[in-house]
Order: sequence, then structure tokens, then C-alpha cells
Amino acid sequence: MATGKINVSVDNIFPLIKKFLYSDHEIFLRELISNATDATLKLKHLTSIGEAKVEYGNPIIEVKADKEGKKLHIIDQGIGMTEDEVKKYINEVAFSGAEEFLDKYKDAEKDAGIIGHFGLGFYSSFMVANKVEIITKSYKDEPAVHWTCDGTPKFSIKKSKKADRGTEIILHIADDDTEFLEDNRISELLRKYNKFMPIPIKFGTKTETLPKPEGAKEEDPAPTQEVDNIINNPNPAWTKQPSELEDADYKSFYRELYPMQFEEPLFNIHLNVDYPFNLTGILYFPKLSNDLNIQKDRIQLFQNQVFVTDNVEGIVPEFLTMLRGVIDSPDIPLNVSRSYLQADGAVKKISSYITRKVADKLNSLFKNNREEFEAKWNDIKIVIEYGMLSEEKFFEKADKFALYPTVDGKFYTFEELQENLKENQTDKDDKLVVLYASDKEAQHSYIEAAKAKGYEVLLMDSPIIAHLMQKLETSKENLSFTRVDADHLDNLIKKEDTQISKLSDEEKDRLKTGLEAVITDKGYTIQLEAMDSKASPFIITEPEFMRRMKEMQQTGGGGGGMFGMGGMPEMYNLIVNTNHELVGAILNTKTAKKRERLINQSLDLARLSKGLLKGEELTNFIKRSYEMVK
Ligand code: ADP
Repeated sequence: MATGKINVSVDNIFPLIKKFLYSDHEIFLRELISNATDATLKLKHLTSIGEAKVEYGNPIIEVKADKEGKKLHIIDQGIGMTEDEVKKYINEVAFSGAEEFLDKYKDAEKDAGIIGHFGLGFYSSFMVANKVEIITKSYKDEPAVHWTCDGTPKFSIKKSKKADRGTEIILHIADDDTEFLEDNRISELLRKYNKFMPIPIKFGTKTETLPKPEGAKEEDPAPTQEVDNIINNPNPAWTKQPSELEDADYKSFYRELYPMQFEEPLFNIHLNVDYPFNLTGILYFPKLSNDLNIQKDRIQLFQNQVFVTDNVEGIVPEFLTMLRGVIDSPDIPLNVSRSYLQADGAVKKISSYITRKVADKLNSLFKNNREEFEAKWNDIKIVIEYGMLSEEKFFEKADKFALYPTVDGKFYTFEELQENLKENQTDKDDKLVVLYASDKEAQHSYIEAAKAKGYEVLLMDSPIIAHLMQKLETSKENLSFTRVDADHLDNLIKKEDTQISKLSDEEKDRLKTGLEAVITDKGYTIQLEAMDSKASPFIITEPEFMRRMKEMQQTGGGGGGMFGMGGMPEMYNLIVNTNHELVGAILNTKTAKKRERLINQSLDLARLSKGLLKGEELTNFIKRSYEMVK
């Protein structure tokens, strides 16, 4: 037996490893299984090119826990190592790699951390073990070796009797880390990190029920057999060509990725590039609700089928983090901090490639099956609208397929909408006025009023729509958005059939004075309008600008900031329809008392219709109304 001292500059870097990576001990298993996978794939390659004259067979990787002996075994049937290779790769490469890693990690510690702590490799076994053994036999005709290291830079190396090719790593689990000897914990880790690794991974056995033999009696139990419990799917869908996959395959892969997700995805996007970077993956558009809260089923990042993280921030544009699926790329640097990552050229290219692919897919759905695209619009609009707001490149593409639904379920593209509005929805300056509702129920009476005038009303109800409208108003010429309950009556050019007021100027003055005497709330600006006699007598509108500023303050982002925090005054217009019978009655009542009652009741009805009547005021209104109908 020979012993030696590993050449590391820090006398003992084991405590450092433990200390720095304290919270991420679990990654050791992923690292060791990655090594075992690499060793197996290398053998596959060597046999395929005739370099290794051995039978490749059907190698597996086995994980075995020995609770009593406090040992964890990771066994592969890969290329193995000769004595010289152990000395070189383990004593030198692995240890110097670990030092390098720690150097980087120390600097990055305060930063957002190093993604998935990749790159620590074999050495990470010392995060959980106080002694590590390697028993390995190379595919070359050389004796097996047995290497042992007990957590100091000293190691020993001797011959071993191991007869079959491959490597067995034995971890003597430290007392602090005995959780890693528990079946449940190991299964959890294997499922988390190794679910789609390319070599089958065995952990224990399971009982399989076989079909009953012919002629077996009803009461005879079905025969069973013990089989290897393979925990991974070595050929996940994203590693295949799109031409090999049917719609059902994509759907079943979705269920494999998110077993707790019962809703089917809306559609998928298969990513597949090998130049100028290598990237494969499948993204899914899930059914999203208006609720933008963080979902827990997220895009998973893999590197050569090894799970890295489900936090892809900085790798895919933010608006696409709402999607689900997998991305696998060896070109995303992992042993760097996130802030470094965002500045990385390759990552930027990957990010814009993904954006482009998503836009292209949406565009082809729109072009090839508009009906289906319209049907899905409600579920996908948040991602698209968010993307249009945050990525200029995406805006340019999405502008052609983004839809603007009307309250009656028609869908326009922006271009179609413009064409349509030219007809009769312009204001005095020839600006197109887009009328919209944000809530079909709450704004029902306003919608009806606008439709009665022949106006087209859009339904724009996403939480971020105020920001998008702002953007459209600045990026498109001659356009303004106005909510149906806003003061559009002023903005829109009156149509031919605009009503002539039944009241004389003197009567109008008298009406206004009367109204102002009763409605003392400074929040209301009273305006007299001659409208259809069947339209409401009192209508409350809110200046579009004021309301939108308030909305944007609520959803954050640009716009609201210039007014400071909150503190927007409540300001409304009270439009009084001079042609309505009730308004005539108000003007001509005999007693001031009755006039006051009519005005207050009408005002409250208008407020009720706008959803402004609440709490005590609402209670009083209802009491008063019962009194009246009695
Ligand atoms: P990395 O895998 O990043 O090169 P590691 O520290 O994990 O770094 O491993 C160092 C080297 O040790 C590997 O490059 C490989 O040559 C060798 N090695 C590690 N594990 C195995 C294994 N299971 N079978 C064969 N060789 C291995």
C-alpha cells in the first residue's frame, strides 16, 4: 500500500467545503451520479469507435444505502480508472478543481450565489462524508485500485480484487448528515436531480405483478417478481427530434414533469439548436389565470439531462418565466453568479433565441388557425402583453398577432382595429379613440350606452393592460384609449344624430344652479349634455388619465411615479342628460325639498351604477328606496 499527500495550498480545505456550502449538501449525489454517467457515456463512445475492445452491454448506475454501516455506495459500469488515472484525476484534477471552485465561491458568496453549485465534482462528497473510498477497475487490462481518503489531504492507495469494470464510490456518511442514508431522502434527491439522466439509475428493487399463468384458479394469487427499481427516464422527450413526437407525447411528458398538474398545457414549443450555441428543450404555455402570483411549477434548467435549477431568471426573459417546461444547454455557464450570467454573451443569445421561437410559434398558430388562437387568447394574453411591454423585439413581432377582443367576443388585430375605428371613432383632432371596458359586469350600463351610439367597445381586462395602453399610445400615432365610463363623451366627435337640447339656455342655467346647490361635493364636476331621452338621466364618468394613473400605481411599473405615492384625488364628471324626463322634473319641481330628494336619489343611482356607493351610504340609500316604494 502507498500513501501520499494531496497537493493543496490550503492545508485542509474540507472544513471550508462544509462551511461554504452548508445549505447545499445534497448536491453531492448529483455530482457523483454525473461522474458515473460521464464514465459510462465515455465507455459507450470508446466502444462505438472501436477504441475500447469490451462489450458495452446495458450498463446501469446503482445507488445503495447501508444504514447500519453508515455507508452510501454509488456504483457504475463505466470506463473506470487505472492507478495512474486515480492519481492524476482524483489527487490532482479533482482537488485543484475544488480549490478553484472555492476561490470563486468565496467572492460570489454575497452575490446571488452560484447556480446550483455546479463544478465542485467528486470533491463534494466531502460535504457529507468524513471518509471516501474509490474502488475502480479500468476497461484497460490493468488491476483494480482502492483509494481511501479520510478528510485530510492524506490518501492511501492499494490494489483491489474488484473483477468487473467500473467504479464504486463509498461514502462514510458523517454523523451530521445521516439523513442521506434514509431511503426517502435518497429517492427525493434522485427524483429531483436525476429524473432524466441518460443512464438508468437503480435504487433498490420493487415487486412487479406478473400475469397469472394459463389455467390458474380465481383464488390463486398472481405471481410476482423482484425487479430493479429504476428511478429515471433516460430518454426524455426533449432529447428527441420534433418529427419523432406526437401531440400526445408532448402532453405525457408534461405530466411527467409536473405530476401534480392536472390542467393540460395549451401548446408547446420545441427548442432545438446546435449553432451558435447548443440548446434543446420544450416549453409549454400553461393555462394562466389573471393572478400573477408566482407559480411553483416552473421551467426547469438542465445541463446534459442533469437537473440544475428551476430558477431560470436571467436565462429566459422575465415574461417567459411564466411558461413551463425544460431547457437543456451545456452552454449556460453554471459556476458563476447570476449577475455575471446576465452579462454573458452566450446567455443573451440564448435568451433572444427563446423569445424569437416563442413569437414565431404564436405567429404560426395565429396564421394557421386563427379560430383556435382566438379561443386560447384569454389564457395566453398575459404572457404576450407582458412580453410586448418588456421586450421591444417581442413587441414588434407580437404587434401582428396580439388580439383586441370586443365586449361581444369579436377579435381584432391592431391593424384591423385601426381600420374599423376610422369609420366613426375619431375625436376633434382626428385621433382614433379606442373605447374599452375593463369589467363587463361593473360597466354594463356604460357599455350599453356606447354600443347604442354605434361605438365599438373592447374588453381589456388584464392586470397590466393600463401599461400596455400607455405603450401603444406612445408607439402608435394618433390614438388614445378611453374607458367606457371615462369622459369620452367630450372626446368623441358627436355623431350626426346628436340630440338637440330640449331646454333653453335660461332653463339650463337654472338647472345647473339647482344641481350645484344640492351636490356640494367638490369631487363632481357637473356637465349638462343633450342626449337621447332614453339614455340615463345622470351618468358619472372619470377622467381617463386620472383613473389610469391610479391603476398603474397599483400594478407598479412606470407612469404613476411622477405623482409620488398614492394621494390621487377622487375626481368625477357628473353628466346630466337634459333631454331626460326626470331631469325635466327636477327643473320644474314645486318645492326645494322635493328637488333635493330627486337630485340625491338620482345621484346615488348614478353612483350605484358606477360602483361608487358603498358602506353606510349604500345602506342609507337602500333604506330610503324602500321608504319610497312603500
Ligand atoms: P469533473 O467531473 O468536473 O472533471 P471531478 O472532480 O468530478 O471533476 O472528477 C475528476 C475526474 O475524475 C473526472 O474528470 C474523471 O476523469 C474522474 N472520475 C471521477 N469519477 C469517475 C468515475 N465514476 N469513473 C471514472 N472516472 C471518474
